Amino acid sequence: MEQKKRVLSCIQPTGDMHFGNYFGAVKNWVDLQAEYECFYGVVNYHAMTMPYDSKKLVHNTWELIFNLMATGLKTETLFIQSLVPEHAELCWIFNCFTSYGQLSRMTQFKDKSKQSEESSEGFISAGLLNYPVLQAADILIYRADFVPVGDDQDQHLELARNIAQRFNNQAGKEYLILPKALHTEVPRVMSTAEPTRKMSKSAGEKHYINIFAEPDRIRKQIRSAVTDAGDTPAGEMSPGVKNLFSLLKACEKHDIYDALMNNYNAGNLKYVDLKEAVAEALVEISNPFRQRKAEINANKKEVKEQVKASSVEIRKRAQETIREVQELSGLLNVKF
Ligand code: ADP
Repeated sequence: MEQKKRVLSCIQPTGDMHFGNYFGAVKNWVDLQAEYECFYGVVNYHAMTMPYDSKKLVHNTWELIFNLMATGLKTETLFIQSLVPEHAELCWIFNCFTSYGQLSRMTQFKDKSKQSEESSEGFISAGLLNYPVLQAADILIYRADFVPVGDDQDQHLELARNIAQRFNNQAGKEYLILPKALHTEVPRVMSTAEPTRKMSKSAGEKHYINIFAEPDRIRKQIRSAVTDAGDTPAGEMSPGVKNLFSLLKACEKHDIYDALMNNYNAGNLKYVDLKEAVAEALVEISNPFRQRKAEINANKKEVKEQVKASSVEIRKRAQETIREVQELSGLLNVKF
């Protein structure tokens, strides 16, 4: 039997999970489990690169694990980054194979350092600069073939390949696998309160819809979605209406989508019908999530043990890579 290709993806523990995260990333992860050998990391080391609260970080790390499990990720695919400290060791080694100039040109570094500077009295951590090196370690340590990423991450993935190539050149061996991006078409979900900006936690509560919210809250948020802000040129679909249609499509409600789109094209779409359809579709998707989350919440201790155990299993692969990397790079090691 041909061995399954490996997929690696990571997510930062930064709070609630919303439908933007779900349709834009997590749903894809759930689907990939059927075809690939998957590793999904909750990357708490990465969450330290911006100002943060340590108690909240612990809480958010577990909460994200529970949320990912409730959406359908298998426990054995999940690990917590700090339970695999080899990521940090490999990051150091890779720092020495990374061009400082290339790092300082990363778009995300430029954006986030500006944010960091504004929010914390001018403090920009070196961790923020080295973030993509740690990301390269996350990927290369599992010898991943594919990384499902959005276009905004292409620059980081290119850096990971550059690091791998430079390491392999020095080692005189094609040891590290050069990972490829796995681009899947995913919707960019917009805020229903302000449909010209993307749905995001960082913009505040009204700008995102929690996937575990009670049905009434979901309905209320969709009912109050902005449809026409009055500044859309004639003949064009407004961003708010576009976003609602896109949500309906993401929920795979193709028949209702077609019927309502026909109404729109005929000029007789009632926004209330579109909102009703979107709200019900989102509630339907969220029902099993809420149910599974309640089950997990009732068994937190056991679930935590399971995830610690899967992290230990996954760590074995990382340890093997570290051992080989140490050998290839001239470092002394004590065999694990
Ligand atoms: P947030 O902006 O809410 O903090 P994150 O930056 O933590 O979200 O994103 C986690 C994942 O969810 C990333 O893979 C990102 O591409 C995806 N994602 C976040 N917001 C959206 C959105 N509005 N539409 C589509 N995908 C999104």
